[in-house]
Amino acid sequence: MKKVSKSLLIMALCAFMIVSFTGCGKKSESLKFGTNAEFPPFEFIAANGVIGEYDGIDIAIAKKIGEDLGRTAEIENMEFDSLLIALQNGQLDAVIAGMTVTDERKESVNFSVSYYNATQVIIVKEDSDIKSAADLDGKLTAVVQGYTGETCVNDLGYNYESFKKGTECVMELVNGKCDAVVIDSATAQKYVSDNKGLKIVEDSSAFEGEEYAIAVAKGNDELLEQINKSIEKMLSDGTIATLSDKYCSAE
Ligand code: GLN
Repeated sequence: MKKVSKSLLIMALCAFMIVSFTGCGKKSESLKFGTNAEFPPFEFIAANGVIGEYDGIDIAIAKKIGEDLGRTAEIENMEFDSLLIALQNGQLDAVIAGMTVTDERKESVNFSVSYYNATQVIIVKEDSDIKSAADLDGKLTAVVQGYTGETCVNDLGYNYESFKKGTECVMELVNGKCDAVVIDSATAQKYVSDNKGLKIVEDSSAFEGEEYAIAVAKGNDELLEQINKSIEKMLSDGTIATLSDKYCSAE
């Protein structure tokens, strides 16, 4: 009898430990988003970010998607070029990075419904004679490696140099080492308001409209459907418009 109760006690203890270690399956599962926190106002590092040190429109959207799905949104910060590879390797659940939907990217991942419209613009010095994309001919343009801005300038056939970060491109321009920077519209606005003596040149005939969406690994249809529902809700109830106003007007 004594022996039986002792083994019962051990079994109960083991069961308790298993339940505690696995969280009984009830612990909120994390939802790991990859981003490149070098793209204000969509993702940047801040002292008190929405998720840890990460802040921006995309980070706030990621947090809300996590809440809708009953999962804790986490951010993994990596180079823009590595994001889709990490997604395909299963290191991430999704990528939210102001990422433009392109046919080339669609070959390796699936995209959610889009949540933001953007376009490429040209940042120049206030006294620049560049008035359209055609004026980039014979000039040196700085772009970020792997961004759609690089593809655009490459397709136009003009000289360019690529850098790892948008801030590096802007410093090249400020220091007179290049004539222009081609980058996404909202990010360009941010750089122009942060750096004196710069202005934006738009050219809708040279740069097509782009749409930002969240990337999910091919085959992960359940997650894609959940993310789509969450984005559609945030688009229709004005959450995304409010976030965009908040972060675009923030100093
Ligand atoms: N929208 C651009 C692209 O997809 C830039 C994105 C980014 O820098 N985060 O290439």
